[in-house]
Amino acid sequence: MARILIIGAGGVSQVAVHKCAQASDVFTDICLASRTLSKCDKIAAQLKRPIRTAKVDADNVPQLVKLIKDFRPDVVLNVALPYQDLHIMDACLETGVNYVDTANYEPPDVAHFEYKWQWAYQERFKKKGILALLGSGFDPGVTNVYTAWALKKHFDTIETLDIIDANAGDHGQPFATNFNPEINIREVTAKGRYWEKGKWIETDPLSVKKTMDFPDGIGPKKIYLMFHEELESLTKNFAKKGLKRARFWMTFSDNYLKHLEVLQNVGMTRINPVKYNGQEIIPLQFLKALLPDPASLGPLTKGKTCIGCKIKGTAKDGRKREYYVYNICSHEESYKEVQSQAISYTTGVPAMIGAMLVATGVWKGAGVFNMEDFDPEPFMKKLNKYGLPWTEVFLK
Ligand code: NDP
Repeated sequence: MARILIIGAGGVSQVAVHKCAQASDVFTDICLASRTLSKCDKIAAQLKRPIRTAKVDADNVPQLVKLIKDFRPDVVLNVALPYQDLHIMDACLETGVNYVDTANYEPPDVAHFEYKWQWAYQERFKKKGILALLGSGFDPGVTNVYTAWALKKHFDTIETLDIIDANAGDHGQPFATNFNPEINIREVTAKGRYWEKGKWIETDPLSVKKTMDFPDGIGPKKIYLMFHEELESLTKNFAKKGLKRARFWMTFSDNYLKHLEVLQNVGMTRINPVKYNGQEIIPLQFLKALLPDPASLGPLTKGKTCIGCKIKGTAKDGRKREYYVYNICSHEESYKEVQSQAISYTTGVPAMIGAMLVATGVWKGAGVFNMEDFDPEPFMKKLNKYGLPWTEVFLK
């Protein structure tokens, strides 16, 4: 019996709201609030049970506080954009409500994300006796839980961790991003970074690549080394457990990279303002307005995603072990169930599960937590139950 306030009404929200509505035994009352009320109403109209909708500017703390006081949720699920994280955390602090999100804070004017801004809330959340769960999507999110699960069940020490995110789907568009284009392009065009023996090593954007053979008929795909936010918390938490190297890889098609290179070369991915016809515009935001809305890709996308962790280390019996745990998600099946493609599905389901574990007190505590801080077992069970089943392979 829990009340949930979901903020943001984009692609990820579409899935999270459907999944919370399906879990009516836990989420008895749902309020969906976002900047554009019509988007909330559109999602609400697809559901089999009534939910409340509201208009809120999540950058406006007093507005958020008013809504929270009025709805009285047990948990606030933030599936707006990373720019809103701190404002929503401030509103949760003021009202004493638990907080869950899927992406770490990013200042709007610098393409840079890290946990320091949200970790800085640790003492205030502790003092207030409330919990903030950070990064409850797939990556970050499930990938952190997979790593914690591997250590709990199969390894004495984890030495290397490779998180690999493959989207083998095809939407048939010349160029489109699978989630918010601005956030996606900022992430992809940033320098790569991986962690080895306690140090961060920087690489030029998308300059390190290799080919990996993916399971379930996906086959060989090129994967590119990138920095991804879960590396920050995982290296901090697992270095003391023997971790020596952690990397993140993602697939990109040659076509996606060709378009991105041209857009970058002509300055369309810049995030600093330029003057145009007496008006200031930010090229990347203008580009977002031109690109297909990720939500519109749902009915067009065919194929699968495969996201997982390859881990090497020492098993509990002292032998060397190599292990791969992953999920396969079908774009078409996701669309059939919740009218969204698999990228939103693989984020929206863990967002709901994280909120559920917090709302029901299965994951509890006071302070700011990353996913690997908690027992992975209940989360792993719920992944199987709510549509993201996982497979384990012992490679050695
Ligand atoms: P969308 O752009 O589709 O949706 C964002 C939503 O937030 C929109 O409805 C938007 O409103 C709303 N919003 C933006 N600013 C405000 C504001 N000031 N006040 C209220 N609402 C606001 O993004 P996605 O659904 O693709 O992504 C949602 C989040 O999920 C992002 O933080 C993204 O980084 C994260 N993510 C995490 C992943 C993971 O695996 N961990 C993977 C993919 C995404 P409007 O429609 O009016 O613009």
